[in-house]
Amino acid sequence: MVHFVGAGSGAVDLITVRGARLLADADVVIWAGSLVNPELLTYCKAFCEIHDSSLLTLEQVLEIIKRAEAAGKTTVRLHTGDGSIYGAVREQFDALEKLGIEYDVCPGVSSFCGAAASLKAEYTLPGVSQTVIISRAAGKTPVPEKESIPSLASHGATMVLFLSASLTEKLQGELIEGGYSQNTPAAVVYKATWADERILRCTVGTLHDTVKGSGIKKTALIIVGGCMGDEYMRSLLYDPGFSTEFRSGN
Ligand code: SAH
Repeated sequence: MVHFVGAGSGAVDLITVRGARLLADADVVIWAGSLVNPELLTYCKAFCEIHDSSLLTLEQVLEIIKRAEAAGKTTVRLHTGDGSIYGAVREQFDALEKLGIEYDVCPGVSSFCGAAASLKAEYTLPGVSQTVIISRAAGKTPVPEKESIPSLASHGATMVLFLSASLTEKLQGELIEGGYSQNTPAAVVYKATWADERILRCTVGTLHDTVKGSGIKKTALIIVGGCMGDEYMRSLLYDPGFSTEFRSGN
Protein backbone atom coordinates (compact mmCIF):
# COMPACT_ATOMS: atom_id res chain seq x y z
CA MET A 1 0.00 0.00 0.00
CA VAL A 2 1.25 3.47 -0.90
CA HIS A 3 -0.02 6.59 0.83
CA PHE A 4 0.57 9.92 -0.91
CA VAL A 5 0.75 12.45 1.90
CA GLY A 6 0.74 16.24 1.73
CA ALA A 7 3.43 17.43 4.14
CA GLY A 8 2.01 20.94 4.48
CA SER A 9 3.75 24.20 3.68
CA GLY A 10 6.67 23.93 6.08
CA ALA A 11 6.00 24.12 9.82
CA VAL A 12 6.35 20.61 11.16
CA ASP A 13 2.99 20.71 12.99
CA LEU A 14 1.09 21.69 9.84
CA ILE A 15 0.90 18.13 8.54
CA THR A 16 -2.58 16.67 9.08
CA VAL A 17 -3.21 14.30 11.99
CA ARG A 18 -3.84 11.57 9.40
CA GLY A 19 -0.62 12.39 7.56
CA ALA A 20 1.43 12.22 10.76
CA ARG A 21 -0.13 8.86 11.63
CA LEU A 22 0.62 7.46 8.17
CA LEU A 23 4.23 8.66 8.46
CA ALA A 24 4.55 7.04 11.88
CA ASP A 25 3.26 3.73 10.49
CA ALA A 26 5.32 3.71 7.26
CA ASP A 27 8.08 1.17 6.60
CA VAL A 28 9.41 3.16 3.64
CA VAL A 29 9.24 6.95 3.14
CA ILE A 30 10.06 8.72 -0.11
CA TRP A 31 10.14 12.42 0.64
CA ALA A 32 10.76 15.52 -1.48
CA GLY A 33 13.94 16.66 0.26
CA SER A 34 14.21 19.86 -1.76
CA LEU A 35 11.05 21.35 -0.22
CA VAL A 36 9.74 19.28 2.69
CA ASN A 37 10.87 20.20 6.20
CA PRO A 38 13.32 17.43 7.27
CA GLU A 39 12.01 17.68 10.84
CA LEU A 40 8.90 15.83 9.61
CA LEU A 41 11.02 12.68 9.45
CA THR A 42 11.06 12.67 13.25
CA TYR A 43 7.50 11.30 12.96
CA CYS A 44 8.92 8.16 11.29
CA LYS A 45 9.51 4.99 13.27
CA ALA A 46 13.03 3.72 13.96
CA PHE A 47 14.32 1.54 11.07
CA CYS A 48 12.05 3.27 8.57
CA GLU A 49 13.76 3.23 5.16
CA ILE A 50 14.02 6.85 3.94
CA HIS A 51 14.68 8.08 0.38
CA ASP A 52 15.05 11.66 -0.85
CA SER A 53 13.13 11.95 -4.13
CA SER A 54 15.00 15.11 -5.18
CA LEU A 55 17.84 12.74 -6.16
CA LEU A 56 15.59 10.26 -7.99
CA THR A 57 13.81 9.85 -11.32
CA LEU A 58 10.19 8.70 -11.54
CA GLU A 59 11.48 5.25 -12.57
CA GLN A 60 13.69 5.04 -9.47
CA VAL A 61 10.81 6.09 -7.22
CA LEU A 62 8.68 3.33 -8.75
CA GLU A 63 11.47 0.77 -8.26
CA ILE A 64 11.60 1.60 -4.53
CA ILE A 65 7.82 1.28 -4.29
CA LYS A 66 7.81 -2.03 -6.18
CA ARG A 67 10.48 -3.45 -3.89
CA ALA A 68 8.57 -2.32 -0.80
CA GLU A 69 5.35 -3.88 -2.14
CA ALA A 70 7.11 -7.19 -2.85
CA ALA A 71 8.26 -7.24 0.78
CA GLY A 72 4.74 -6.46 2.03
CA LYS A 73 5.80 -3.04 3.29
CA THR A 74 3.83 0.21 3.54
CA THR A 75 5.20 3.24 1.71
CA VAL A 76 4.52 6.94 2.29
CA ARG A 77 5.27 9.27 -0.62
CA LEU A 78 5.62 12.64 1.10
CA HIS A 79 5.00 15.70 -1.08
CA THR A 80 5.35 19.34 -0.13
CA GLY A 81 2.17 21.34 0.52
CA ASP A 82 -0.66 19.49 -1.16
CA GLY A 83 0.24 17.07 -3.93
CA SER A 84 -2.49 18.36 -6.23
CA ILE A 85 -0.60 21.59 -6.91
CA TYR A 86 2.55 21.10 -9.05
CA GLY A 87 3.08 17.81 -7.27
CA ALA A 88 3.81 15.52 -10.23
CA VAL A 89 1.53 13.00 -8.53
CA ARG A 90 -0.65 12.03 -11.47
CA GLU A 91 2.15 10.21 -13.31
CA GLN A 92 2.81 8.22 -10.14
CA PHE A 93 -0.88 7.38 -9.67
CA ASP A 94 -1.11 6.15 -13.26
CA ALA A 95 2.07 4.07 -12.96
CA LEU A 96 0.78 2.44 -9.77
CA GLU A 97 -2.57 1.71 -11.44
CA LYS A 98 -0.71 -0.05 -14.25
CA LEU A 99 1.36 -2.03 -11.77
CA GLY A 100 -1.77 -2.96 -9.80
CA ILE A 101 -0.40 -1.33 -6.64
CA GLU A 102 -3.00 0.11 -4.31
CA TYR A 103 -2.63 3.72 -3.19
CA ASP A 104 -4.54 6.52 -1.54
CA VAL A 105 -4.09 10.24 -1.01
CA CYS A 106 -3.98 12.32 2.16
CA PRO A 107 -4.28 16.08 1.53
CA GLY A 108 -1.96 18.73 2.93
CA VAL A 109 -1.90 22.46 3.60
CA SER A 110 -0.74 23.95 0.31
CA SER A 111 1.74 26.80 0.50
CA PHE A 112 -0.87 29.17 -0.93
CA CYS A 113 -2.92 28.54 2.22
CA GLY A 114 0.17 28.76 4.42
CA ALA A 115 1.05 32.08 2.80
CA ALA A 116 -2.48 33.46 3.33
CA ALA A 117 -2.16 32.60 7.01
CA SER A 118 1.25 34.27 7.24
CA LEU A 119 -0.09 37.36 5.48
CA LYS A 120 -3.32 37.26 7.53
CA ALA A 121 -5.01 37.63 4.16
CA GLU A 122 -8.33 36.66 2.62
CA TYR A 123 -7.97 35.95 -1.09
CA THR A 124 -11.70 36.28 -1.85
CA LEU A 125 -12.68 39.68 -0.47
CA PRO A 126 -16.24 40.88 -1.20
CA GLY A 127 -16.20 43.79 -3.62
CA VAL A 128 -12.62 43.01 -4.63
CA SER A 129 -12.36 39.52 -6.10
CA GLN A 130 -14.23 36.26 -5.73
CA THR A 131 -11.70 34.27 -7.71
CA VAL A 132 -8.22 32.94 -7.00
CA ILE A 133 -6.07 32.12 -10.00
CA ILE A 134 -3.23 29.73 -9.21
CA SER A 135 -0.63 29.71 -11.93
CA ARG A 136 3.04 30.14 -12.71
CA ALA A 137 5.25 32.05 -15.10
CA ALA A 138 6.47 29.87 -17.96
CA GLY A 139 9.96 28.62 -17.21
CA LYS A 140 11.52 25.32 -18.22
CA THR A 141 8.03 23.86 -17.92
CA PRO A 142 5.87 25.46 -20.60
CA VAL A 143 2.45 26.95 -19.79
CA PRO A 144 -0.35 26.61 -22.38
CA GLU A 145 -0.67 29.80 -24.45
CA LYS A 146 -4.32 30.24 -23.39
CA GLU A 147 -3.06 30.55 -19.79
CA SER A 148 -0.48 33.23 -20.48
CA ILE A 149 0.06 35.69 -17.62
CA PRO A 150 -1.46 38.65 -19.55
CA SER A 151 -4.62 36.67 -20.32
CA LEU A 152 -5.02 35.52 -16.70
CA ALA A 153 -4.19 39.01 -15.40
CA SER A 154 -6.98 40.48 -17.55
CA HIS A 155 -9.50 39.21 -14.98
CA GLY A 156 -8.09 41.45 -12.25
CA ALA A 157 -8.68 38.60 -9.80
CA THR A 158 -6.42 37.45 -6.98
CA MET A 159 -3.42 35.68 -8.47
CA VAL A 160 -1.12 33.33 -6.60
CA LEU A 161 1.99 32.58 -8.60
CA PHE A 162 4.08 29.55 -7.83
CA LEU A 163 7.56 28.78 -9.20
CA SER A 164 8.06 32.30 -10.49
CA ALA A 165 10.43 34.07 -8.06
CA SER A 166 13.33 34.00 -10.52
CA LEU A 167 11.19 35.28 -13.38
CA THR A 168 9.86 38.52 -11.90
CA GLU A 169 11.13 40.92 -14.55
CA LYS A 170 9.07 39.33 -17.31
CA LEU A 171 6.24 38.54 -14.91
CA GLN A 172 5.86 42.16 -13.81
CA GLY A 173 5.65 43.34 -17.42
CA GLU A 174 3.08 40.70 -18.28
CA LEU A 175 0.92 41.45 -15.25
CA ILE A 176 0.78 45.09 -16.31
CA GLU A 177 0.22 44.15 -19.95
CA GLY A 178 -2.75 42.10 -18.78
CA GLY A 179 -4.34 45.02 -16.97
CA TYR A 180 -3.13 45.31 -13.37
CA SER A 181 -2.09 48.87 -12.58
CA GLN A 182 1.44 49.63 -11.39
CA ASN A 183 0.07 50.31 -7.92
CA THR A 184 -1.94 47.08 -7.53
CA PRO A 185 -0.82 45.68 -4.18
CA ALA A 186 1.29 42.54 -4.17
CA ALA A 187 3.23 40.39 -1.72
CA VAL A 188 6.03 37.88 -1.83
CA VAL A 189 6.12 35.15 0.78
CA TYR A 190 9.33 33.18 1.07
CA LYS A 191 9.17 29.85 2.92
CA ALA A 192 5.69 30.47 4.34
CA THR A 193 5.27 28.88 7.80
CA TRP A 194 8.97 27.90 8.05
CA ALA A 195 11.10 29.40 10.85
CA ASP A 196 12.98 31.54 8.31
CA GLU A 197 9.84 32.79 6.54
CA ARG A 198 10.04 36.25 4.97
CA ILE A 199 7.21 38.52 3.86
CA LEU A 200 7.74 41.37 1.43
CA ARG A 201 4.94 43.72 0.52
CA CYS A 202 5.13 45.73 -2.67
CA THR A 203 3.07 46.68 -5.72
CA VAL A 204 2.99 45.16 -9.18
CA GLY A 205 5.16 48.08 -10.32
CA THR A 206 7.84 47.39 -7.70
CA LEU A 207 7.64 43.59 -7.77
CA HIS A 208 10.82 42.90 -9.70
CA ASP A 209 13.00 45.38 -7.76
CA THR A 210 11.62 44.06 -4.48
CA VAL A 211 12.37 40.42 -5.27
CA LYS A 212 15.75 41.20 -6.85
CA GLY A 213 16.80 43.30 -3.87
CA SER A 214 15.78 40.57 -1.44
CA GLY A 215 17.95 37.86 -2.98
CA ILE A 216 14.94 35.49 -3.00
CA LYS A 217 15.10 33.13 -5.97
CA LYS A 218 12.97 30.15 -4.98
CA THR A 219 10.52 28.70 -2.43
CA ALA A 220 8.39 31.82 -2.71
CA LEU A 221 4.88 32.73 -3.75
CA ILE A 222 3.90 35.96 -5.42
CA ILE A 223 0.43 37.17 -4.59
CA VAL A 224 -1.14 39.94 -6.64
CA GLY A 225 -4.46 41.72 -6.46
CA GLY A 226 -6.72 44.07 -4.56
CA CYS A 227 -7.04 41.55 -1.72
CA MET A 228 -3.50 42.57 -0.68
CA GLY A 229 -4.84 46.12 -0.15
CA ASP A 230 -7.19 47.62 2.42
CA GLU A 231 -10.37 48.35 0.50
CA TYR A 232 -13.23 45.86 0.48
CA MET A 233 -16.91 45.46 1.39
CA ARG A 234 -17.99 43.64 4.51
CA SER A 235 -19.61 40.25 3.96
CA LEU A 236 -23.35 39.83 3.53
CA LEU A 237 -23.19 36.57 5.49
CA TYR A 238 -22.54 38.39 8.76
CA ASP A 239 -24.52 41.53 7.94
CA PRO A 240 -27.30 42.15 10.53
CA GLY A 241 -29.77 42.93 7.71
CA PHE A 242 -29.14 39.74 5.80
CA SER A 243 -31.13 36.54 6.38
CA THR A 244 -29.58 33.12 5.94
CA GLU A 245 -30.79 29.58 6.40
CA PHE A 246 -29.55 29.77 9.99
CA ARG A 247 -30.29 33.36 11.07
CA SER A 248 -32.97 35.92 10.22
CA GLY A 249 -31.89 39.48 9.55
CA ASN A 250 -33.60 42.59 10.86
N1 SAH B 1 2.62 21.19 -3.81
C1 SAH B 1 3.22 22.42 -3.34
C2 SAH B 1 3.83 23.22 -4.45
C3 SAH B 1 5.04 22.54 -5.09
S1 SAH B 1 5.76 23.46 -6.37
C4 SAH B 1 2.17 23.21 -2.56
O1 SAH B 1 1.00 22.78 -2.47
O2 SAH B 1 2.53 24.25 -2.00
C5 SAH B 1 7.06 24.29 -5.54
C6 SAH B 1 6.76 25.77 -5.43
O3 SAH B 1 5.77 25.95 -4.42
C7 SAH B 1 7.92 26.65 -4.98
O4 SAH B 1 8.73 27.02 -6.05
C8 SAH B 1 7.20 27.83 -4.40
O5 SAH B 1 6.71 28.67 -5.43
C9 SAH B 1 6.01 27.17 -3.76
N2 SAH B 1 6.22 26.86 -2.33
C10 SAH B 1 6.29 25.65 -1.75
N3 SAH B 1 6.40 25.76 -0.40
C11 SAH B 1 6.41 27.09 -0.15
C12 SAH B 1 6.44 27.87 1.04
N4 SAH B 1 6.50 27.29 2.25
N5 SAH B 1 6.41 29.21 0.94
C13 SAH B 1 6.31 29.82 -0.27
N6 SAH B 1 6.26 29.14 -1.42
C14 SAH B 1 6.29 27.80 -1.37
